Amino acid sequence: MEEKVIVDGLTFVPYLRREEIQKQVKRVAEQIREDMAGSSPLFLCVLNGAFIFAADLIREVGLNGCSVSFVRYKSYEGTSSTGKVKQLIGLTENLEGKDVVIIEDIVDTGLTAVQMIADIKKQNPASVRFATLLHKPESSKTGFQPDYVAFSIPPKFIIGYGLDLDGKVRNLKDIYMVEE
Ligand code: 5GP
Repeated sequence: MEEKVIVDGLTFVPYLRREEIQKQVKRVAEQIREDMAGSSPLFLCVLNGAFIFAADLIREVGLNGCSVSFVRYKSYEGTSSTGKVKQLIGLTENLEGKDVVIIEDIVDTGLTAVQMIADIKKQNPASVRFATLLHKPESSKTGFQPDYVAFSIPPKFIIGYGLDLDGKVRNLKDIYMVEE
């Protein structure tokens, strides 16, 4: 793991190592596997940030018969929320009667999650669950509580393992936090 990462003039320090991330991914995967036993869920990966977490989680869950699809939402510019949630890629799948598990990288204000769940429920799925790698409960503006959380973290800006700063550094294997 690199000691420090500098992106666009901001310094980031190590926060969660890959081994710890994999341990928590396994724990969440076990919970999902138990809850979804006997079901063929549709995993809905929220692009762009959740692609790495989703790839690891779905393989760890290991439910044969599951399917995977993608949506894209955007609410952040730089290191802060714009307060507006834009849907950039929509759903093409029919969700009626399906058990849907949304996979997100991080829940901050909760605005993206609340809007996404409302959009999905319009299609009458059998159930909707929400899994997130990271949750910042202190930043919540909605009171939204995800069903599955790998890590609860303080309200600081994070990069790596899929999470970006203006499109960069998604490829880092570990997670870094902005230095105060
Ligand atoms: P919310 O709608 O809950 O405020 O924000 C969710 C989205 O904001 C996430 O999917 C992610 O794109 C972005 N976001 C929130 N906090 C962070 C962070 O600490 N780092 C990065 N890279 N993105 C974040």
